[in-house]
Amino acid sequence: MTTAAASTFESRTAETLKSLQASGQYKHLHTLDSPMDARVKMVGDDGQTREVLCFCSNNYLGLANDPGVVDAGVEGLRKYGAGTASVRFICGTFTPHNTLEATIAEYMGTESAYTFVSCWTATEALFPTVCEPGDMIISDELNHACIIDAIRLTPVIKKGVLKSVYKHADMDSLRERLTAARDNADVTGQIWVVTDGVFSMEGAVADLPAIRRLCDQFGAMLVVDDSHGHGVMGPTGRGTHEHFGMHPGAANHDPTRGLVDVFTGTLGKALGGGAGGFIAGSKNLTELIIQRGRPTLFSNALPVTVACSAEKAIRTLINQPERVVRLRENVAYARKKLGEAGFEVMDSPTAIIPIIVGDTAKAIAMSKKLLDLGIFVIGFGFPVVPEGTARLRIQMSAAHSHADIDALVAALKKL
Ligand SMILES: *Cc1c(COP(=O)(O)O)cnc(C)c1O
Repeated sequence: MTTAAASTFESRTAETLKSLQASGQYKHLHTLDSPMDARVKMVGDDGQTREVLCFCSNNYLGLANDPGVVDAGVEGLRKYGAGTASVRFICGTFTPHNTLEATIAEYMGTESAYTFVSCWTATEALFPTVCEPGDMIISDELNHACIIDAIRLTPVIKKGVLKSVYKHADMDSLRERLTAARDNADVTGQIWVVTDGVFSMEGAVADLPAIRRLCDQFGAMLVVDDSHGHGVMGPTGRGTHEHFGMHPGAANHDPTRGLVDVFTGTLGKALGGGAGGFIAGSKNLTELIIQRGRPTLFSNALPVTVACSAEKAIRTLINQPERVVRLRENVAYARKKLGEAGFEVMDSPTAIIPIIVGDTAKAIAMSKKLLDLGIFVIGFGFPVVPEGTARLRIQMSAAHSHADIDALVAALKKL
């Protein structure tokens, strides 16, 4: 140690980290030394790698290490080089960006789409750009952290934007908030309602038709972040809107249910798993974002190699809907086997299977024991989920075999 006293920051941070360790909430990063797949090579404390079964990635369709997806990225890298060295509006828009955005619009069933380096960035671009003073944003209380932070940011950038939160998935609460907005003299502009399509910690699905009806009744715009729904929900994996017949290009489209106005989504989960996010909606919407969205005006474009592999991933999904069927079959098999083994599992069409254990430290300890048994599942606790609802979150992939799922259930039974 030097003679100088530690800075305020260093001493309080040491305290914070110590208390996280004492309460068993300290997160340790696991290092992988192989592609993301059903089986991955994990680097142990001794520096040795060993194979484990991965049940905690968002690689729902097994596209992250698909040869076609990887090759598309390699070709893009060779043809266009390592990076754009520019934001989109200066000289950072390349042919693969336009191709990818047209493919996303086709896949989502919207007029237009525009990409970002992540869904987090897309969401932070969306609300501060589209909202004006006198607008109100009404948000589900369990929405993803990027929505919460983007809503917090909006009135900082645009004074006079109002916000409100409704109880999770509670339509009476949403109606109450909409009524209050209508009766609030400060709400002179657009009302926005925003929800996750699939809630990432529960695997719960937002009731989009009911939310759409309420939005119509109050003249509100509906925004859906479907990051966990892409590739998973709906007969051909187009998302939660397809699940409910609200995709205008899908075979099951039901025009009486209406459409979603704006989507945000990620390319970092089922759709190749690389990185990137998007906003999809009307042409006017994406044009406004291009003109005024600070994260796209002042921050680099999606790397072209990533755009190429993401485009290939979405094409593969469109051309091989059987991957979605395989995922669904795996989810049904896992739920059945877990149920037979005595675990309480919610029935849900998503690929997320949470097992609630209550205490954060217990969830972390259980995931550690599972890892010793060769099963990679993460325990989530506070503050990622509410206090007292810590859980093991199992995520299924089309890449898993029945034998993989049997191994998961056997390991859980041993705990
Ligand atoms: C994962 C996730 C995100 C973040 O996506 P990135 O592209 O990794 O930023 C945003 N919203 C929801 C609902 C998510 O599940």
